[in-house]
Amino acid sequence: MGSLPFSIEFFPPKTPEALARLRETRERLVRLSPRYFSVTLGAGGSARDGTLDVAVEIHKKGYEAAPHLTCIGTSRESIRDRLREYQSLGIRHLVALRGDLPSPYGELGDFRYASELVAFVRAETGDWFHVDVAAYPEVHPQATSPQDDLKYFINKVKAGADTAITQYFYNPDAYFHFVDAVQRAGVFIPIVPGIMPITNYSSLVRFSDTCGADIPRWIRLRLDSYGDDTVSIKAFGLEVVTALCERLREGGAPGFHFYSLNQAAMVEALCANLRLAG
Ligand code: FAD
Repeated sequence: MGSLPFSIEFFPPKTPEALARLRETRERLVRLSPRYFSVTLGAGGSARDGTLDVAVEIHKKGYEAAPHLTCIGTSRESIRDRLREYQSLGIRHLVALRGDLPSPYGELGDFRYASELVAFVRAETGDWFHVDVAAYPEVHPQATSPQDDLKYFINKVKAGADTAITQYFYNPDAYFHFVDAVQRAGVFIPIVPGIMPITNYSSLVRFSDTCGADIPRWIRLRLDSYGDDTVSIKAFGLEVVTALCERLREGGAPGFHFYSLNQAAMVEALCANLRLAG
C-alpha cells in the first residue's frame, strides 16, 4: 500500500509556555514531512492574531502554512485586510470557514456562509490562495437536511474551493458515501479525511457531541470501560484510528489531515503505523 500525503492542524497557544511546547511539537512533526500545517482560528476574531503569528512563524521557518479564516461576525474590510496581509507575507494557502455562530447577542457581520467567504477570496485575490473548505460526512449539526448540506458543500466548491478537509469521524462508510454523493453531483475535488487521534475519553465525547461527530457504540463502550487508565485508552485509540486510516487509504482517500491538538506523539505513532513519514 503506497504512502499518502498528509497535513497537520495546530491551534494558537494561549500562553508563552504553551507556545514553547507548540514549537517543540512542530519541530518533531516537521521530521515526518507533512505537506503543510494548518492553524485554527477562534470565530468572531478573538484569536485572529494568534493564528497569524503561528502561521507566519511556520512560513518563515520554510514550511507551508495554511491559516484558517472564519467569516461569521466579520466585515468585508477586515477580511480584505487579512488577505492582503497574508499575500504580502507570501502565504498562499487558506482554510475558509464560516465559524461557529456567535451568541444571540453577537454580530453576524457581512458574511452568512463559508461559500460567500470563498467567493470573496476569489474576487479579491484571484488564484493566489489554495482554498480548502470543511466537509461533513456525518452531516453538519445545523444542516436542514443531508441533501441540503451536500448542496451547500457543492456551492462552496463552485465558489472556488480547491480541496476539502472533513470533520473527523470513526465510521469510514460515512466518508465513502459522502465522496460518492459529491462525485455523483459531478464534483471531483480531493476530499481529505480529518483524523482525530483518541487520547482522552471525556473530552472526545464532549467535543464530538457539539460538532456532530459520531463515536460508534462499540468504541464508546470500550473507551468507557478503561476508566482513568489513559495508557489503555491511548493504545486502543491508536489501534482504532490506524485501522480507520488503513480502510480510508484502501478506499482511495487522497491523504490525511491530522488534528494534532498540538501534541506530537499520536501523530508520530499513526504515521509510523501507516508508514507515512516522508
Ligand atoms: P458552511 O459551509 O457555511 O455551513 C454552515 C451551515 O450552514 C451548514 O449546516 C450548511 O448546511 C448551512 N448552509 C451553508 N450554506 C447555506 C445557505 N446558502 N443557505 C442555508 N444554509 C446554508 N471553526 C472555527 O471557529 N475555527 C476554525 O479554525 C475551524 N476550523 C475547522 C476546520 C475543519 C476542517 C472543520 C471541518 C471545521 C472547522 N471549524 C472551525 C468548525 C466550523 O467553523 C463549524 O463547523 C461551522 O459551524 C461551520 O463552518 P463551515 O465553514 O462548514 O460553514
